[in-house]
This record gives sequence, C-alpha cells and structure tokens, in this order.
Amino acid sequence: MDLKYTPEEERFRNEVREWLQANLPAERPEVSESENMDEWMAFLRNWQRKLSDAGWAGIAWPKEYGGRGAGVNEQLIFTEEMARAKAPNLMNVSIGIELVGPALMHHGAEAQRRRYLPKILSAEEVWCQGFSEPGAGSDLASLQTRAVIDGDRFIVTGQKVWTSWAEYSDHCILLVRTDASAPRHKGISCLLVDMRSPGITVRPTRQITGETEFSEVFFDGVAVPRENLVGEINGGWGVAMTVLMHERGTSAIGYQIRLRSELDELMELAKRIEKNGRPASADPLIQQKLAQSFIEVEILKYNIYRSATQIARNGSPGPESSIIKLFWSEMDRRQKEVAMELMGLRSQLVRGSKGAVDHGRWQRAFLWSRAGTIYAGSSEIQRNIIAERVLGLPRG
Ligand SMILES: Cc1cc2nc3c(=O)[nH]c(=O)nc-3n(C[C@H](O)[C@H](O)[C@H](O)COP(=O)(O)OP(=O)(O)OC[C@H]3O[C@@H](n4cnc5c(N)ncnc54)[C@H](O)[C@@H]3O)c2cc1C
Repeated sequence: MDLKYTPEEERFRNEVREWLQANLPAERPEVSESENMDEWMAFLRNWQRKLSDAGWAGIAWPKEYGGRGAGVNEQLIFTEEMARAKAPNLMNVSIGIELVGPALMHHGAEAQRRRYLPKILSAEEVWCQGFSEPGAGSDLASLQTRAVIDGDRFIVTGQKVWTSWAEYSDHCILLVRTDASAPRHKGISCLLVDMRSPGITVRPTRQITGETEFSEVFFDGVAVPRENLVGEINGGWGVAMTVLMHERGTSAIGYQIRLRSELDELMELAKRIEKNGRPASADPLIQQKLAQSFIEVEILKYNIYRSATQIARNGSPGPESSIIKLFWSEMDRRQKEVAMELMGLRSQLVRGSKGAVDHGRWQRAFLWSRAGTIYAGSSEIQRNIIAERVLGLPRG
C-alpha cells in the first residue's frame, strides 16, 4: 500500500474532521450500556441517522444502496477520524454494516439488497447474527437449528445463543440446516428473518460486566418467506465465510486509533496513580509495558493497512484477517491488564462503587477485553486458520 494519502484523500479527511467537530453531540451518554440501554440505543439511532443524512454511513457502499460510493481508503480515513474524535460508533456497524452488508452484496439477490441495505445505513433497521448455538460455536458447521420447506416458506425450529443485540434487532441473519443428510458444510442455508415473527422468543443473558448485550433466541416453528433465502439453498456456508472474514478483518479498521487513544489515557492514569511513593509512570516495569503496548498499536496499524490493500484489490480481506483479529484482541487484553495492575486493589471495585478508579471504566474495559478473544472465532481458532490457510500446514 502507498502509505501517503492523495491530496483528494486529505481533503476528504479534513471534510470528515470538520463535520465531526460541528456535529458530534456534546452531550452524550457514557458508554455504559447497562445503566440505561434504551437511552443508549435511542442515542445511537439518532446519531447514525444524522451521519447517514450527511452521507457518512456506508462510505464504500454503492450509491444505489444508500452508500457514498467511495473507496476503501476513504472508509479507512473516515473510521480513523471517528475513532480520533472519540465519536460513538454507528449503531449497527458491527453487524448490519460490516457483516450483513457485505454478505448481501456478495451473495444476496438484487431485490434483497434494495429492500434491506438502505435501512441498515439509516439505522431504521437493526440486525443481529444468529450463527452460534449451544452445541455449535467454534465448530459452527455442527449447527442444528433446522428449516424445512413448506410451500413458499421455510419453517424454522431450534435455538441460537450469544446473539448480540437480539433484543433490539428488527432482523436476523440466520444459519439453518436445510439438508441433514448432506456433508455438514453442504447442508446449511442462510435466511433473513424478521425478529418480530410469531414463534421467536428472545431471552437476554447477563454478562460479567452486568450488561445484557446478548441473548438466547428460540425459534419455534417460525415461518420465513422463501424469498428471504440468501444465495443458493444449502449454500449458506459460503455466506457464513464472507460474514466471518469481514467480522475479523474490516471491522478492526478503527481499533488501532481507539487502542492508541486508550494507551494515552493509560499513560495519564499511570501519572495519577502512586506506586511505592512515586507516580507509577516512573516505575521501569510499568514503562516497559506501556512501551510494549505502543509497539503493538503500531504493528496493528500496519497490518490493518495491509488488509485494506487486500480489500481494495480483491474486495475481501482473505484469511489474513485472522492475523488482525488474533493480534488486536490479544493486545487489547494485555493493555487492559496493565490498567488493572496500575489500580492495584482498587481494580476490584466495580462501576458505581465508592472509590472505583475513573468510575470503574478500566475494570469494565478489562472484562470486555476477554470477550474479544472469543467472539468472531476464538484465538485458538484464528491460529488454526493461520496455520492451515495462510501457512499451508496440514489440518491438525
Ligand atoms: C461478547 C460476545 C458476543 C457474541 N456475539 C455473537 C453473535 O452476535 N452471534 C453469534 O452467532 N455468536 C456470537 N458470539 C458467540 C461466539 O461466536 C462463540 O462464543 C465462539 O465462536 C466460541 O464458541 P463457543 O462459545 O461455543 O466455545 P467452544 O467452541 O465450545 O470453545 C471452547 C474452547 O475450546 C477452544 N477450541 C474449540 N475448538 C478448538 C479447536 N479446533 N482447536 C483449538 N481450540 C479449540 C476454543 O478456542 C475455546 O477456548 C458471541 C460471543 C461473545 C463472547
């Protein structure tokens, strides 16, 4: 990749920066979804509508689906500027924009693209991802939720788990088994399901942070119109792979800036907190760890640029996206462990407790950082993919 941006791209960066300066709401709820999730969701919906009206949602999406029709570099610049301004992310970015969008653009019918894509950008419709099941996480191909054809509809029965945003979603991109006798990967289909269909029950699960970001979702004879099939019948594995590659690669674009700005805040914390009668920032071991985190942010940045080049050339991040997923999630954990070390015993104080450092935000970030090494494929699974599909080693 040419690491210098063109004058047009720099102009684009300035335009984004100025718009954010003028439009970023001064008053915004803290990123504390658990305290008032409804308020937080309403805030995000309004924020995304504002971005979308100004043409900032779906930078690299085609214009006919409500996007800006710009390139991957503009997407990269936009995401960097959002992270730099500490702007709240787009509401449905991690599922609607980054997963469902690419899946429909690669595999969907034209009518599906026109029906669903613009409403993802305007935040009129929120999506969830129904892949994992109680018996199918890393081994996704063993999923059991089944769909049988009944005239012009599918009838879906089964259970999904860990479904992020299910409680707030209008639609679900769902993997189902449509042929139990075919080899495991060949009997799966992908459906677009209206979450308000009769027969769907959503049961939120409380996480260690106190939030209920994800849910169990039960399907009891749910009717789904046949036109909601994405791609071919029993061709769902290809759709799932597109979704997972984007989940691992594209969605990490802004992380290096966010991790860098969290490192700056961590250094500021190290100056405020005392260790052995001196600011912790003077401790040589703490300095080593902060320097290591800085190096890792730089490594992540260049890997993300490499992935962006791959997307610009091939339209897809490829199996190398596993390197980025593995790296950012593991380095995020290491960075938040430094925060816990700095706070010492006070790291045990949860949000809302008297004496919790920075209102408990570091402890929440530490707990959340554990999730990053599990969702979108755990670290062990990313290593397996890198070994087999990047290094070409035989299957273990
Ligand atoms: C915060 C969060 C949000 C999520 N959101 C969603 C969502 O919106 N939609 C959705 O569908 N899913 C979601 N998930 C689920 C996620 O995709 C799964 O948790 C993940 O795929 C792991 O599956 P599992 O939990 O069943 O663990 P398992 O697959 O049972 O794995 C257990 C352990 O065994 C290891 N392991 C398993 N297989 C191998 C192997 N072959 N080689 C080496 N080690 C192995 C794993 O690395 C892990 O450490 C979410 C998870 C989290 C934490």
